[in-house]
Amino acid sequence: MVMKGKKGVILGIANKKSIAYGIAKACQEQGAQMAITFLSERFEKKLAPIAQELECGTRLYPCDVSKPEEIVALRESLKEDMGEIDFIVHSIAFAPKEGLSGRFVDTPKSAFNVAMEISVFSLVEVAKELKPILSKNASILTLSYYGGVKYVPNYNLMGVAKAALEMTVKYLAEDLGKDGIRVNAISAGPIKTLAAAGIGDFSFLLKWNVHHSPLKQNVTIDQVGNSGMYLLSDLSSGVTGEIHYVDSGYNIMGLPAVDFDEKGKASIAWNGE
Ligand code: NAP
Repeated sequence: MVMKGKKGVILGIANKKSIAYGIAKACQEQGAQMAITFLSERFEKKLAPIAQELECGTRLYPCDVSKPEEIVALRESLKEDMGEIDFIVHSIAFAPKEGLSGRFVDTPKSAFNVAMEISVFSLVEVAKELKPILSKNASILTLSYYGGVKYVPNYNLMGVAKAALEMTVKYLAEDLGKDGIRVNAISAGPIKTLAAAGIGDFSFLLKWNVHHSPLKQNVTIDQVGNSGMYLLSDLSSGVTGEIHYVDSGYNIMGLPAVDFDEKGKASIAWNGE
């Protein structure tokens, strides 16, 4: 039981397809005690059975990260109900739909600002506001995607946000390292979730990843969950500021997968079907 005695909070469970749910399940299976958050009352009812299943009891709190007062209120509730906590999962992203398809040059300023606020700055704000209740060896984890490193069709504004998020992880890791707090990200391969549904022709990305990753498959929330649990646990006590890929190895590929004929001549292995 790697997480026995650990307590934490998970932000970003929308349903049982959420990456955050995969991480929460892996932590629970290893003995962690958790609280989870919901965005608005509309989602509270949906999350109640999930909180029950994860044995969170009544530890289900509102937290819209665009409202600083809700982050402060979250800290106060956690302090009262759990005391110190050992880990935070930040599995949150949002960009208005006009930032997730079409020409990047047309990205509206308002969409840009919203994406940066919800998907990037919220990590800094959550870390800052929850720091007073973090234990000495606490671990913070966020979620990124390869579209923050290289161009990915339609990922557009979210790619810029993920690039900023990955550097935010590194600067936070250096700063909070002074307090013994670790900060890491998982860069997950594409997974069909609610957030992913907002990205133009996401099903093409899923197919592309299967054909062009070394493992020839898409990752699951259980696989991301287990790696997340490792980064939140003391097993990774020497790891901080890391962007850890859980993507069937896709990020190592310099060229798309190719086939070789009998003369050793290479051709593209996939016809797009
Ligand atoms: P998801 O299930 O839709 O989770 C996204 C979560 O962000 C939802 O719980 C959503 O809440 C929450 N959220 C949005 N705005 C918020 C706000 N203002 N305050 C608080 N919470 C807010 O999708 P997911 O794919 O698991 O996404 C989780 C993270 O993984 C994101 O950072 C995403 O970019 C990243 N990621 C996803 C993939 C993928 O292919 N799915 C790959 C790599 C990285 P509501 O649902 O209640 O709006």
